[in-house]
Amino acid sequence: AKKKGRSGTAFFNGEMNQFQLERLQLENYLRHALEKNEMMLYYQPQYCLKESSISGFEALIRWNHPVLGIISPRDFIPLAEEMGIISDIGRFVMLEACKQLKIWHEEGNQRLSVSVNVSGRQLQSLDFIFEVKEILESTGIDPTFLHLELTETIMIENVQHSLNIMKELKALGIKLSIDDFGTGYSALSYIKDLPIDILKIDQTFIQNLLNDGYNKTDIAIVKAIITMCQVLMVDVVAEGVETAEQMALLKQFGCQHIQGYYISKPVDREAARKLLQKR
Ligand code: C2E
Ligand code: CA
Ligand code: CA
Ligand code: CA
Repeated sequence: AKKKGRSGTAFFNGEMNQFQLERLQLENYLRHALEKNEMMLYYQPQYCLKESSISGFEALIRWNHPVLGIISPRDFIPLAEEMGIISDIGRFVMLEACKQLKIWHEEGNQRLSVSVNVSGRQLQSLDFIFEVKEILESTGIDPTFLHLELTETIMIENVQHSLNIMKELKALGIKLSIDDFGTGYSALSYIKDLPIDILKIDQTFIQNLLNDGYNKTDIAIVKAIITMCQVLMVDVVAEGVETAEQMALLKQFGCQHIQGYYISKPVDREAARKLLQKR
């Protein structure tokens, strides 16, 4: 009988193709990336238009491999999920982000928040709530300033279970955010049933705002989302803001927060500290 490799491909059936070899190699590197200290966090500011200041940072993981160089999370996060090691990576990210938040708060930025991306598999894992509690306790941060970013797909795939976990997180005092809003099969109706504090409008809508002249449909969608959030008393963050025009338009629509290259690219913690001092 043929043996199956981890990726489900047959091994002794002739030669592995280049793609399979590269993937196996990547899996092997990824398995040891945390212990080899190759993972680190970058931070991208979230900017409050009302107060004209940075209100928080989103933590974004970076993998710097000595041979392969920088590998995008878009490439290795799905792989880590398939390999079943996403919880280890997720725990690392949350711990690092909370430690950094503690430092920022101690340095006088008491109202700053940190947003952490949580992947589907990670949320569903049995230890998740336990691990979150442990991190809150060990770092001693105020949970209101920890924002967890979940995507719509996570919530739709396993509605009841996800809802239970979200309620537990809310009970801990953590804030919940919907990431990439508008890209999934968003049924607007479920927004009002979920314990959501923040909604992030996906960057594709923002980038279409002014790119090739006015895109009337995208303007209408963005306006509608902002209005809906005002009614539901959910904070809005517009992602992927790259120009002054986009910012001005969003401000005009009543959007509270923006994030994007126009304010700053994701930066390391030293550069993040400088951004905070610039205020
Ligand atoms: P995301 O959560 O939607 O994060 C926003 C992504 O857009 C980031 O890419 C950020 O660098 C990029 N971005 C921010 N502003 C702009 C802009 O103005 N223009 C453009 N074109 N792009 C902008 P990044 O850091 O490469 O992350 C990609 C995705 O990987 C993230 O998308 C998120 O889904 C995932 N990811 C990143 N870090 C983590 C993590 O710690 N855990 C998990 N589970 N997923 C992560
Ligand atoms: Ca995110
Ligand atoms: Ca996003
Ligand atoms: Ca995303």
